[in-house]
Amino acid sequence: MQDTWKIKCLVPDLPSAEEVLPYLKEIDQNRWYSNFGPLVCQFEKAMASKLQQESPALTNLPSIATFSSATTALELMLRAADLPKPARILTPALTFSATAASIKITGHTPVFCDVDPASWCLTPELAKQIADQHPIDAVLPVAIYGYPVDMNAWAAFQHETGIPVFVDAAAALGNQSLHPDVPTCFSLHATKPFGIGEGGLLVAGSELVERARNLSNFAFCDGTSREVGTNAKMAEVLAAYGLAQIKRFPAVQVRRQTVLDRYIHFLGARRFHPQTAHYVPGTLLFDAEGKADEVEQALNKAQIQTRKWYFPPLNEHKAFHTGDVIPGKDGAFLPVISELKTRLIGLPFHAFLTEEELRHIADVITRTLEN
Ligand SMILES: *Cc1c(COP(=O)(O)O)cnc(C)c1O
Repeated sequence: MQDTWKIKCLVPDLPSAEEVLPYLKEIDQNRWYSNFGPLVCQFEKAMASKLQQESPALTNLPSIATFSSATTALELMLRAADLPKPARILTPALTFSATAASIKITGHTPVFCDVDPASWCLTPELAKQIADQHPIDAVLPVAIYGYPVDMNAWAAFQHETGIPVFVDAAAALGNQSLHPDVPTCFSLHATKPFGIGEGGLLVAGSELVERARNLSNFAFCDGTSREVGTNAKMAEVLAAYGLAQIKRFPAVQVRRQTVLDRYIHFLGARRFHPQTAHYVPGTLLFDAEGKADEVEQALNKAQIQTRKWYFPPLNEHKAFHTGDVIPGKDGAFLPVISELKTRLIGLPFHAFLTEEELRHIADVITRTLEN
């Protein structure tokens, strides 16, 4: 497919061939290409120690497993969790389709709800209100657009209610700190902040991690499958990219921060997520305050790509029509998400945007808003 945009939304910032080469040479030596090879093991250890450093609540090195994607990590996490079947799993209607797909494909029922207007997320407070009035067996909150969820608050929710929590932090690697009691998945897809091409991580208690890992390898146990498994392992080549990416990730984050700072300079902090001062997001949503469609049209006309992440909400997707939807206050239908749809527009956000391009994007937006 020909891409004709002058300015694209997402451009991956991955290690170069030269940066990956030393690791590929190790693979030549090892002649080991998959099945939990030495580079995958080394990558898992390095990620575990990086995540521990970023997580005050983790006093020990966390258990971690690699997968072929965040989607397979989410699926195998839910399978390994042994929830009642079908479990009613509360999740926000504003998220990527893979969140709900992981619920459905593992035989459970997504229960869609609205989000908090300040954080655009499903919060523990919202989940508590809902769980008081509706049967909920588990909660799958999402670190929307890569802004972290309050992990300690979710751990407290789980403790108080006895309802297990699993976090989809696919786009939040580098922002999301962890709690030892709350299983969390990350994506390493090329378009996420920590990209390697394709890949996923599960960080959780060792029992859950080992069961999910086993499911990713046909659930083999002593040469036979002890249950129906799949193949969702990470190949050694991708761990080579991962090891190279760990080294350069601080520089990746600086590049993204620099672009974010220019956007804030041109358009003002109040036009972005309230946590913008503290975190560099995975995808950058601009708050057009009711003019999302106008801004999108003007940008697209100027050959600037935009994305309506994540609209329409999942309950409107054909795949998830049978999911339950929790009505909002006064019976209104997902009022916060409906309003966000008129406000939010995904802007180009990647390391390779030039000052000139950023100025141009900001000019088109500013002119449109003034009309
Ligand atoms: C990207 C993303 C996924 C899927 O990740 P893959 O690694 O591409 O499978 C799932 N959930 C959310 C919230 C995402 O942003």
